[in-house]
Amino acid sequence: MSQNTDKPSDLNDLFVPKSESSQLELAIERKKEHDRNFHLGGRSFYFFDFDDNVAFLATPLILFHKSSGQELKISSGQFAQEHARIGKSGPFVEYKIEWDDVTGTFRNFRDHHNDELERLGLKKQIFVHDVAEALGLPDFQWKGPSWSCFYHATFNQRPVSVITARGHDPQTLKEGIELFVSAGHLPSTPNFLSLFPVSHKATRTELGDLDLTRSVAELKQSAIRESVERALERYGYSPHHRFGMSDDDPKNIQLIAEEMTKLKTKYPEMSFFLIETQHGEFVKNEIGLSGPKVTKLASAPLPSVNPVEQIKLF
Ligand SMILES: [Mg+2]
Repeated sequence: MSQNTDKPSDLNDLFVPKSESSQLELAIERKKEHDRNFHLGGRSFYFFDFDDNVAFLATPLILFHKSSGQELKISSGQFAQEHARIGKSGPFVEYKIEWDDVTGTFRNFRDHHNDELERLGLKKQIFVHDVAEALGLPDFQWKGPSWSCFYHATFNQRPVSVITARGHDPQTLKEGIELFVSAGHLPSTPNFLSLFPVSHKATRTELGDLDLTRSVAELKQSAIRESVERALERYGYSPHHRFGMSDDDPKNIQLIAEEMTKLKTKYPEMSFFLIETQHGEFVKNEIGLSGPKVTKLASAPLPSVNPVEQIKLF
């Protein structure tokens, strides 16, 4: 693993096709836009969950049958909707989650040592391969509900944070995201403010989870708070800053709303937005001062959302 390099390692040995639509995407002339409150000294900060929000990857989660131990692969979208009920009720009542990083439920969402990768016949970490595989499909199959936002934020070099349940090294995330650039789907590397793969042990420690007991949703709360504080350190304080976070997992959405309400209480003059992207929708909420109750600003199923409209709230 190349933890200390800023540049992703050479990706030339991984075949990533350039899709025709990406050529089209680049052909459309776009003008760079300032942040909405730029004239007032404010910046717009974009925080993204990755899976089923920025992109759909085929990375499976593995459930284990309670009595036979038989493995069952499920998608990250199914997991987001069902994880609270696994083993208790619903379609996966007979199954359980195993926590071992190498053999358990999330083994494909973690980095592996080089000898393990070799055994699996992989040149890169699984995440990088999964991105490469997705990019071989038509883009409507892998672009998530927040893809347009992610593109817009990258194109305009808005500060971007990636806050994901994945447990890879942050450098692995960068390396995977760089494939979108080399395949022509992004015009440049995003202007990363932070990358928090919150199941990565070193990242958990960085977020203060020293005994490794916090849930993913709680860790995402810490990552949002840390990203806001980092934004103020790096870009300075402004009452006109705007922060938006998008996520598709209902439990995460609930806790993100709570955390953003606390941030709104601490920084009442700044704006905080929560974008729910469950079931492929794109629902924008502005966080108010009065607790976790949020004001729904817009809701539309994905195909009818104009990407330009999507981004206006930031
Ligand atoms: Mg997700």
